[in-house]
Amino acid sequence: MNVQWYPGHMAKAKRMMQENIKLIDVVIELVDARIPISSKNPDIDSLAANKSRVILLNKYDMADPKYNDLWKSYFDDKGYYTALINSKSGEGVKEIKDIVYKACQEKLERDRRKGIKNRPIRAMIVGIPNVGKSTFINSFVGRATAKTGNKPGVTKGKQWIRLSSKIELLDTPGILWPKFEDPAAGMRLAFIGSINDNIIQMTELALELILFLNKYYPDAIKKRYDIEVPQEMEVIKDCIGTLEQIALKRSCLMKGGEADIERAAKIVLDDFRNVRLGRITLEFP
Ligand code: GDP
Repeated sequence: MNVQWYPGHMAKAKRMMQENIKLIDVVIELVDARIPISSKNPDIDSLAANKSRVILLNKYDMADPKYNDLWKSYFDDKGYYTALINSKSGEGVKEIKDIVYKACQEKLERDRRKGIKNRPIRAMIVGIPNVGKSTFINSFVGRATAKTGNKPGVTKGKQWIRLSSKIELLDTPGILWPKFEDPAAGMRLAFIGSINDNIIQMTELALELILFLNKYYPDAIKKRYDIEVPQEMEVIKDCIGTLEQIALKRSCLMKGGEADIERAAKIVLDDFRNVRLGRITLEFP
């Protein structure tokens, strides 16, 4: 699901976020474990100021196990409550209720001192498109829950899902825009398929990916396509030969018998996005 953002979309998303965030105690932010920084919304910190914060590193099954715990520690050290999860299989999802509850302890203490008892914690899921919000909500909510319906003081039409006697979840996630300004972040988002492929140059993107892989995962391309890859690659031009080899190996030929690198580019990106090049993390703490 690729989404394009226009200034109008962004303004509307921001407005909805500001409106909804007043109602909630804890923001549960999903990021992609392969790009935990590039997949973070640039404005979430100001939007969620003074709220309890949970960061879930989703799709950890697609990311390099070597870096998953490092990234978790990175966010732990910044004071977030965190977890590595696979929303698709449900791994790690059961534990999230406890984490959310812990993240709100201080708030609950304050309530208690003010004489407020048994008020459920209200949580909201947020994240950029495609990060796994719907999959996570389905897994998190499971079957044994019921919608609680409208309540006085709650914006009309809002539905809360009761997760336990202690936690309620806003049923619709907050969809936030990704980082547009930073070109490196944009490229990583494009690698994982979160930016509309129509608006980016696939061949150039595949060359960038090969350049990255050659530096950090030198065996990934070799192993997948059974080709020799030059050790020295400095700029994307140096990767064209590799893309040509992949084209030949996969019988992607043009009419004259030349390597069709455009088709090879699509194969490489598709293989990467489906974890056929291995579990790869694209940025490091
Ligand atoms: P949303 O746009 O944030 O609601 O994202 P979706 O829930 O629609 O998920 C986008 C895609 O990512 C879907 O194809 C999901 O099956 C997949 N997905 C979500 N979470 C995970 C995960 O933890 N691991 C893997 N491998 N795939 C996931």
